[in-house]
Amino acid sequence: MALAQHSQWRAAAAGRAVGRAAAGRPLLVRCAAAPAPKGFGKAPAGPLKDGCPCGANKYYRDCCKPFHAGQVASKIEDTLRARFSAVVKKDVDYLMSTFHPEFSSVYFAGSAPGENWDKLRGEMQRTVENYEYGAFKILKVGEGDRPGEKYAQLQYSLLDKRTPDLDENGKKLKRVVIENGRFLQAEDGRWQLADYRLADVPAALVKTAELETKNLKAQAAAKKEAAAAEGA
Ligand SMILES: [Zn+2]
Repeated sequence: MALAQHSQWRAAAAGRAVGRAAAGRPLLVRCAAAPAPKGFGKAPAGPLKDGCPCGANKYYRDCCKPFHAGQVASKIEDTLRARFSAVVKKDVDYLMSTFHPEFSSVYFAGSAPGENWDKLRGEMQRTVENYEYGAFKILKVGEGDRPGEKYAQLQYSLLDKRTPDLDENGKKLKRVVIENGRFLQAEDGRWQLADYRLADVPAALVKTAELETKNLKAQAAAKKEAAAAEGA
């Protein structure tokens, strides 16, 4: 998540990894163009309209904001959520604080010393400006092969605001993105993204997303009808 910086999809596709490659883990790349899934369905106490962008049913100030303000998220789930919220809030400083120091040298290999970090920052700035993110979910978190290493799988929807994918009716299509990330824990306890791959979106998920879009469309049509009936 950067989430990953999305203009770097091709760099990711080239299969480079920070340090040791994550052997035996599915680290594929590619996004299926697909409608976005409906999102997080958990809202027992009534969903907040203006909840935190990470999808937790809490206000931003009680959720990801403290991490953006400098509190260390020593639970990786908090880091994952806070990274997503930071993308939505365009908080590039926070995002940079949760990249592993080696990340930039791998993705911008060959740059002059010191330039890599600036390049990564530039990429992240462009990413948060040019893409619209939504429907965040943590699919799973797994232990790495050593202490201080964890794997995380995330899902979110993505819309390229400059050149959006369009469906047959010319309507903007969101992509469903699944991202596998490897995180390393720094000495102060924070988790940092060391490398990532975008995963293939399973056909079943695309199907589900299509169905959900159909349902949403039907609901919207019904609402419109009801509103028209009311107005008549
Ligand atoms: Zn949050």
